[in-house]
Amino acid sequence: MARASIIRKTASDFRVLPNWADYEQVRSEFSWEKVQKELTGLPGGGLNIAFEAIERHAQGAWRDRVAFRFLGAGPDRAVTYHELSVLTNRFANLLGNLGIGKGDRLFVLLGRIPELYISVLGSLKNGTVACPLFSAFGPEPIATRLTLGEARVLVTTEQLYRRKVEKIRDSLPGLRHVLLVPEHGDPSADIPGTLDLSRLMAESADDFETVATQAEDMALLHFTSGTTGTPKGAVHVHGAAATHWATGKYALDLHPDDIYWCTADPGWVTGTSYGIIAPLLHGVTSIVDEADFDAERWYRILQQQQVTVWYTAPTAIRMLMKAGGEMARKYSFPKLRFIASVGEPLNPEAVWWGKETLGLPIHDNWWQTETGGIMIANTPAFDIKPGSMGRPLPGIDAFIVSRDEQGNVHIVEAPDSKGELALKRGWPSMFRGYLNNEERYRKCFAGDLYLTGDLATRDQDGYFWFIGRSDDVIKSSGHLIGPFEVESALMEHPAVAEAGVIGKPDETAGEVVKAFVSLKTGYEASDSLRMELLGHARKRLGAAVAPKEIDFLPMLPRTRSGKIMRRLLKARELGLPEGDTSTLEGQA
Ligand code: ATP
Ligand code: MG
Repeated sequence: MARASIIRKTASDFRVLPNWADYEQVRSEFSWEKVQKELTGLPGGGLNIAFEAIERHAQGAWRDRVAFRFLGAGPDRAVTYHELSVLTNRFANLLGNLGIGKGDRLFVLLGRIPELYISVLGSLKNGTVACPLFSAFGPEPIATRLTLGEARVLVTTEQLYRRKVEKIRDSLPGLRHVLLVPEHGDPSADIPGTLDLSRLMAESADDFETVATQAEDMALLHFTSGTTGTPKGAVHVHGAAATHWATGKYALDLHPDDIYWCTADPGWVTGTSYGIIAPLLHGVTSIVDEADFDAERWYRILQQQQVTVWYTAPTAIRMLMKAGGEMARKYSFPKLRFIASVGEPLNPEAVWWGKETLGLPIHDNWWQTETGGIMIANTPAFDIKPGSMGRPLPGIDAFIVSRDEQGNVHIVEAPDSKGELALKRGWPSMFRGYLNNEERYRKCFAGDLYLTGDLATRDQDGYFWFIGRSDDVIKSSGHLIGPFEVESALMEHPAVAEAGVIGKPDETAGEVVKAFVSLKTGYEASDSLRMELLGHARKRLGAAVAPKEIDFLPMLPRTRSGKIMRRLLKARELGLPEGDTSTLEGQA
């Protein structure tokens, strides 16, 4: 279906006045120093993420406001800012009692239950570095990450411990304490070498003075998604709170009375930066759902919880699209006012689906584990060009760069040139290193530019367009082809739910484009559909760029954070080793 190339914003699109409207002016007046003044700082000097996130509300007029509403198998559980303060104080106290202090590393292996949030925030209060992991990881990836991150403490459940940690415990001599969350409210059985978290919490004092961390002190460790290879451990500092605050305001448009739902798991950086920190900094109420994706359940949550701001991912949106419009029409979302998405390029089709099915366009934004926060975004302050990841946020300068034959990096000024996306270093949430990999970290920088490893273009209006990761880009008969462009064209066909595109080695062309496609409910794979899709793509993209081959798959392989793993499609196609699959969804 032919669509307009721009979604214009008009005043009637907004149910509340957005936090900003004039892109150029706000950018020109913005400074990180001013943002730092929005944060309270510790009473004795210094900065601590958890103090900013909880204490300034818990000790003020918002103490009884709900910080988190946890949805799970049992009844919903609401935790107010004041209660969160007490619970995290107790957690910080129990760490101190165990001899765990500033700079020690605490890992969390839990589903999205209250203890996950309490452990991470309590740990930060104690100056202890927190690292949340996906609870679905198997023993191998857990062991690798705990070793690399020098874990001193692990918080998990009895069941997860027995299934995944017990057998690797001997390989983790540095792991001093394992704290177990009781299952189903029962106190943990006496498992040697573990402690019962509920008992320790009950015995701990309610008051705690936040440890005096500084902006440059390490706060969080986050592993990358492993989309392109072995996951890297990125180091983040307390000063990142300034970025979380600013992006919560400008990219997510958070207002104090919002009911906000970030669907990401904290095992992925989005679930921490925007599932924990940013919403708390703004004093909003966050919905946390323990269950995995389910289209019907998600629509019900949006409706019943009266979510106003929703932050999700392209994979979820594509699954909702796959489930069909009929299901969506059973629900209504009169309170929903802003939707954003991150993690992968958002196909234009998905932006339009939001507008037509939910009544709101979806605001794509771009960032990485390494950047710690949203860098480039579609925001309420300007029109959306579907398929573009938007414009750099206030405080962020983004460029397209190229390398010359000597390897020197140059900024490319001309609009629409293809090149690597680079950011001017210096924003507060920038990673401060890769664990144990100083050289790789150093390679990410050229002078004062951070090189992202993604290819993009910038148009004459300053909007950035994602082409692909530099590892995924296809070179075919002299053309540089981004998988995203081909996938988006395939998704315009009504039968296609998802598409993943790779380059397949070819003697004459160098590489040819091959697509893997999964179909929407109600469509069957067949040779005639394959021919139809090949024809559709050729018409949309031209013969040079269109796929030469299409295979149907029931599901595409994806990471736990929901990204299509093209490197796996390629390895399987070519019969090559699959490489690191620790983050592959469905892997135990
Ligand atoms: P790894 O670095 O281990 O291969 P990863 O890069 O997928 O994994 P993340 O840090 O979770 O790990 O993901 C960041 C990457 O995701 C970006 O570099 C980019 O390639 C992709 N990405 C995120 N948001 C968008 C977006 N809106 N549009 C296009 N790509 C995006
Ligand atoms: Mg990456």
